[in-house]
Amino acid sequence: MNKDYLISTIQMDCPICNKVHSLKLRKRLTQSIFKDETVDYEEVYYLCPLGDEEENEFVPAGLMDENLLRVRDAYRQKKDLLTSNEIADIRGYYGLTQSDFSALLGWGDVTVTRYETKTIQDETYDNIMRMVYENPMFALECINKHKDRFTLEKYTKIRKNVANKVEEVGNLYLKKQEINSLYVNFPEESELNGYKKLDIEKIASVIGYFSQFVDNLYKVKLMKLLWYADAIFYGRHGKSMTGLVYRHMPLGALPIAYDEIIYLPTVKVVEEIIYDDISYRICPNKEVNISGFSLEELSVLETVATTFKNHKSKEIIDYMHKEKAYTDTLPNQIIPYNLAKQLNELK
Ligand SMILES: [Zn+2]
Repeated sequence: MNKDYLISTIQMDCPICNKVHSLKLRKRLTQSIFKDETVDYEEVYYLCPLGDEEENEFVPAGLMDENLLRVRDAYRQKKDLLTSNEIADIRGYYGLTQSDFSALLGWGDVTVTRYETKTIQDETYDNIMRMVYENPMFALECINKHKDRFTLEKYTKIRKNVANKVEEVGNLYLKKQEINSLYVNFPEESELNGYKKLDIEKIASVIGYFSQFVDNLYKVKLMKLLWYADAIFYGRHGKSMTGLVYRHMPLGALPIAYDEIIYLPTVKVVEEIIYDDISYRICPNKEVNISGFSLEELSVLETVATTFKNHKSKEIIDYMHKEKAYTDTLPNQIIPYNLAKQLNELK
């Protein structure tokens, strides 16, 4: 808690000594009470090295406002509300000014300005701003609904920005909704999801990793690799890597939403005809961010990729059929992660 650092030394008129001399601008971690909550925040203040210990600090008005903003943001973080910077980021994402953003949402002209400076938004308003960010289609609905709040020129410009985001990430949002809806009955961390809530970004990254390090990767094999990655990670760390829930199916463990996850926009799938059957080949996609893995995750992914690199789909299915997780569960049953603790050979 005892953190207090020098930021810079400044020559200025010192209100304590009433003369110009060198003052220290410092920043420290401190506490404040805001709306009955104690919050930790970083306070900036001036220190007069000539003053006595009782009275040697001061905070001019401008700096006071900045400190108050930090207190409010600390409060917002504690309450899981968007901070003033996050609100600014959302409107920046669509190229909106504060009053544009207010108009787009059908709010009073200065509402967003107030949220970025002094007022704490309530949860309903907070949710609406988040939704605008997560779902560009919703932003598009909003701009169309409040078209009369803009000049035609401005409307055209903003609509274009929003439409670009719809093209860029709208599909990802829809796919995520689809996957989340299939997981609606697994909202809590449990034995079924390996004590981890579904992490769709992580799933996309894991698929991206396997597509780079495993040649001839087809859908059936990918599903087994996902299970092994989750199962081994669970065995080592007591929780799964992705939060996927797997069922006992004829071809081994199969995650719920297996059809949907391979159509995440970051996954490159090519359909191939092999002996009259359609096969889904997962191709490497360099755009997938795989630098976000922890060392523990990379270690598990490497074990799985190296072990099964040369296994054909049929071989990995046979291999999985011998696992206790498979032999001890019934067809269609969800495979609880505790059974994954006793894997054959590899660990
Ligand atoms: Zn002084």
